[in-house]
Amino acid sequence: MTAPQRLSLDGAALAANWRALARASGGAACGAAVKADGYGLGVRDVVTRLLAAGCRDFFVSSWNEAAALADLDLASAGASLSVLHGVRDADMTIATASQARPVLSTSAQVRRWQGAGGGACDVMVDTGMNRLGIAPDDIAAGLLGGVAIDTLLSHLACADEDSAMNEQQRTRFAALAGRTNARRLSLANSAGITLGVDYHFDLTRPGLALYGGMPVPALTDVIRPVARIEAEVLQRRLVRAGETVGYNATWVASVDTQVAIVNLGYADGYWRGFSDTGLAFAGDVQLSVIGRVSMDLVALDVTGADVGEGDWIAFDPDLPRAARASGMSQYELLTGLGHRFDRIWHD
Ligand SMILES: *Cc1c(COP(=O)(O)O)cnc(C)c1O
Repeated sequence: MTAPQRLSLDGAALAANWRALARASGGAACGAAVKADGYGLGVRDVVTRLLAAGCRDFFVSSWNEAAALADLDLASAGASLSVLHGVRDADMTIATASQARPVLSTSAQVRRWQGAGGGACDVMVDTGMNRLGIAPDDIAAGLLGGVAIDTLLSHLACADEDSAMNEQQRTRFAALAGRTNARRLSLANSAGITLGVDYHFDLTRPGLALYGGMPVPALTDVIRPVARIEAEVLQRRLVRAGETVGYNATWVASVDTQVAIVNLGYADGYWRGFSDTGLAFAGDVQLSVIGRVSMDLVALDVTGADVGEGDWIAFDPDLPRAARASGMSQYELLTGLGHRFDRIWHD
């Protein structure tokens, strides 16, 4: 069965984005954040393609997400998977049998993991974001004595801004070098990579930019779009001047207008913020969203465009521009992509 909406996914662009970020990471290894189902694109396909490109360090948020990758033999590829949210009691059976490592981020998690015999793990340390992580003082107090740490991580709060906090966090993190038995240190996300070599440490962890997101202008010429929404026209109609289109009749035709009703809506992650602002394409012809985006439908002005029932329309794949149009973040636009799409990879 073919869905009337699909994601056209560019595998070559995904691989090229990873290679570009790996180059920008200099001497550091470049991993990949693949949480939230590979930022909405489909985690198995993303991981398989990034493995082939050379990526060896993958990050998901929970053990459910790790389980979705359980049948990929990462170890024999020399690759590893880390679970960013650590281990709850309820995770321990699965976690101790898993190929993935927990990223321990509280003292209770450290004790839980050690109490169960430990094994390789990662540790998150908080350097100022006050989200996840043990305190540098806990390390000084000996919390990590005897813990077999692969990678010591921290996370930047403001990497996409020119903020004094970046240097503050970097300094606090750098001071931990040699204070644990960690094999590697890792700080930078996508935007963090662009802050320069001092931020790269041993391993970088881009997410957004792999998938075509551009959190900072420095990545604009480096990163290519990966995902494009395409959806089928259900109906073309003539809307006479003075008539309205869609819920609440917010859009009023000032002149006779040809309108296409397309199989896409906010249930697919094409958010209501695109009402009257979204951009689409029929070949090279630019089309505008008119009126409110509905749950399953959206209306486009196709006056002058050769677009009819059954034709496929492409929606704007430029994430920074789509984010401005919708008022959503690039992260939300990707991770909100719904389950109704056929996800079709082109290499
Ligand atoms: C999501 C996440 C990343 C990736 O961040 P991007 O901004 O998408 O590049 C890296 N590290 C941690 C801890 C994360 O949670």
